[in-house]
Amino acid sequence: MAYDMDPALAEIERKVEAGVSLSLEDGLALYRTHDIHNLGRIARAQKERKSGKNVYYVLNRYINSTNVCYANCKFCSFAADEFKQPERVFRMTADQVFAKALETGSNFNQIHIVGGHDPRQLSLDYWLPLMRRFKEALPHVQLSFFTAAEIEYMAKRHRMSIPEIVKTLKEAGLDNVNGGAAEIFAEETRKKICANKVSSENWIAIHEELHRQGVASNATMLYGHIESLEDRLDHMIRLRESQRRSPGFNAFIPLAYHPDGNELSHCGWTSGLDDLKTFAIARLMLDNFDHIKAYWMIQGLKICQVALQFGADDMDGTHGSTDEEMIYHAAGTQSGQYVDDREFRRLIEDAGYVAVRRNSTYDTFPYDWAPPVSEKEAVSVS
Ligand code: SF4
Repeated sequence: MAYDMDPALAEIERKVEAGVSLSLEDGLALYRTHDIHNLGRIARAQKERKSGKNVYYVLNRYINSTNVCYANCKFCSFAADEFKQPERVFRMTADQVFAKALETGSNFNQIHIVGGHDPRQLSLDYWLPLMRRFKEALPHVQLSFFTAAEIEYMAKRHRMSIPEIVKTLKEAGLDNVNGGAAEIFAEETRKKICANKVSSENWIAIHEELHRQGVASNATMLYGHIESLEDRLDHMIRLRESQRRSPGFNAFIPLAYHPDGNELSHCGWTSGLDDLKTFAIARLMLDNFDHIKAYWMIQGLKICQVALQFGADDMDGTHGSTDEEMIYHAAGTQSGQYVDDREFRRLIEDAGYVAVRRNSTYDTFPYDWAPPVSEKEAVSVS
């Protein structure tokens, strides 16, 4: 029996091939289709127009430097109140962060650090010397630090404007800002899940300023909680418009909500089908983003490998073998902490793609690249 394509998808495919940006209504039609195979095919073709057969991964270190936070986001299982839950609190010193990053050697291309809004740690006095220290000891490593929420917090604390704090962080070595804290931009929903963190407007303004000053960034969307499909598509459209005004986003990363240990647990887990549709729809809605990342820590290695057939072209990074991601692990992720880079290459190649090692800004490296020996020696004696 012939397999009929969903007519709504045929019309959308024509728009995609003609380079016409999709509307919110197109996005709704994509979410509502049961024609998952054609949705994947159209997203995959768009991915291949952007990045050919390449699928990217990064050798990185991942550090959560503190979990002290009072923003009280309803979906968060990670934050701890220093006074009410002292037994849960951790706060690393700058020396501990530096030592942790080097615990498994210096052969990595990115350090990814995010933490809570900790009044005792989130300050330029803590971060600027540490950033300079990293840059001096590891010039081959890009600093992918903070989210827009952390940058706004520090700006307020130091009474600096956003352009001033971006300039200061850039001068200290900031290469890339992580895409977190975007959550969901739609204000009514945002008020219900994270009323005390950076507003949607400021999140976008901070990223646009980063891009104007030459600092790259990523963008995320937290989906699968109380948001509507319209909220998701509105979120993607706001990012697409922001990228037009002030280009500099490298990757979009759909983050599936995880329900353990937080106030939205009644929302449950996302389904595999919702995850795959969201990767594909992000690829098609965000026509001016080069990369859609399937972050194995969030949706799991197996879904993320399949996502490569649904428009994703990045699997994020190895993490160090002694790193401990805590944000998603506190919320119940079943993913481990570490994936060897050989495993990334196997998963990518088995999906029919070419595995490409990258850094935060998508400069590429041979898989067996290593930092110069003199740099390694400098690190080992410092
Ligand atoms: S999501 Fe971030 S800002 Fe919100 S409570 Fe958790 S650590 Fe704090």
